[in-house]
Amino acid sequence: MTSFILDLRTLALMAMISALGLFFGTVFIWRLDKTERSLRYWAAGAGTMAFGMLLVAMRGLLPDVVTVVIGNTLVVASFSLLYLGARGLLGAPRVWPWNWLVVLLVGIAMVYYSEIQPNVGLRLGSLALGYVALLLGCAWLFWRHGGGRMVIVERTSSALFLVGAGLFVASGAAAVGALSSSRTAVFLEWVLVMPYMYATVFNLWLGILLTLTLSDRVQHQLALARDRAESARQQLAQANRELEVLSVTDKLTALFNRVKLDRVLTAELARAHRYGSALSVVMLDIDHFKVVNDPFGHNIGDDVLVDIADTLRVSVRNSDTVGRWGGEEFLVILPSTDLDQAGAVAEKVRGRVADLKLPTVGQVTVSLGVAEYQAGDTEQQLVARADIALYAAKEGGRNRVCQDVRA
Ligand code: GH3
Ligand code: MG
Ligand code: MG
Repeated sequence: MTSFILDLRTLALMAMISALGLFFGTVFIWRLDKTERSLRYWAAGAGTMAFGMLLVAMRGLLPDVVTVVIGNTLVVASFSLLYLGARGLLGAPRVWPWNWLVVLLVGIAMVYYSEIQPNVGLRLGSLALGYVALLLGCAWLFWRHGGGRMVIVERTSSALFLVGAGLFVASGAAAVGALSSSRTAVFLEWVLVMPYMYATVFNLWLGILLTLTLSDRVQHQLALARDRAESARQQLAQANRELEVLSVTDKLTALFNRVKLDRVLTAELARAHRYGSALSVVMLDIDHFKVVNDPFGHNIGDDVLVDIADTLRVSVRNSDTVGRWGGEEFLVILPSTDLDQAGAVAEKVRGRVADLKLPTVGQVTVSLGVAEYQAGDTEQQLVARADIALYAAKEGGRNRVCQDVRA
């Protein structure tokens, strides 16, 4: 070996440095994402290659059995590990471990043609054959299992491994041929250094491949995480809307509950106060409801409450608010409605309830008290006046409407 640039040891050291780069890169990424199992193979492969290349580079300093036999076998083994890493990265299923058979055969050939029947040509030839097998395996792997978002990178990998396999076929054939027909030393020099030059390119490409694949994966996962966050946000908003509705709805009658009635009262009082507009409320209580509950039971009583709630709901305008005040009492809030108009609504409700033909119970009646907002009224004062009117209706014989007399 005369040329310094093509010196086998120089090239083996270059390959070692590139392998070390790949080793540290993969270990670093593996520490970030320990679930990516393929990275362990990549790290092991790159580390093995770095060590094998170091042994090869020590040619002359260490016995040949270490540099030639162990060094080269380790480099072939590193290709085998990197092949397994690539399988993992591509999500390819496990297959019969033919790659380790290749490594074993290369190891045996190394020992045989180096120590037992020394033959440099056949040694290089069998080494090349091992590389060809593993590179064809890699090329096929990327061709077979690629095709996702990274199709261009995967096809390029296939091509690169195929070119590598071709180069090794040529170098292997040349090694056998050159040595048997004692061709020129320059040609042999290229044949000898080919694996180490290719290994450097191979490592660089694997580094690029890994970076591209993992960054694509990270991007993809980020996009998925964003989608998940967005759909969780929408679910939360939907759940909040449902919760909001539930929090203001009476479970039995599906009318508004007391919470909502209080809010609407406050808002409507403020409005009536500011604009001087009319506002009335109607308080409704079922007559002799105990007489329904006691003989027929609570469930039948509940059905009556639902029927009266439905009658109320369809008897008022959309701008009015109907809710269950508590027990068997209901409140209707009527904006822009004066006492007489509210009295008419109450009378309509009374009549409709009295006309209901209820299953089991037959007929029920209701009493209603009506009050109109007076400037300065609080919510409690307005409702209390409706309550007093209701009480008067009860006193007056029930099944009737009474208006607040102090209006
Ligand atoms: P009055 O004509 O004086 O109103 O007589 P009443 O029997 O209706 O007397 P009151 O208004 O005091 O009756 C309240 C009854 O309403 C007592 C209770 O058993 C019944 N009640 C209250 N809430 C419910 C409910 O959610 N379901 C059922 N089934 N009954 C209820
Ligand atoms: Mg009552
Ligand atoms: Mg009652």
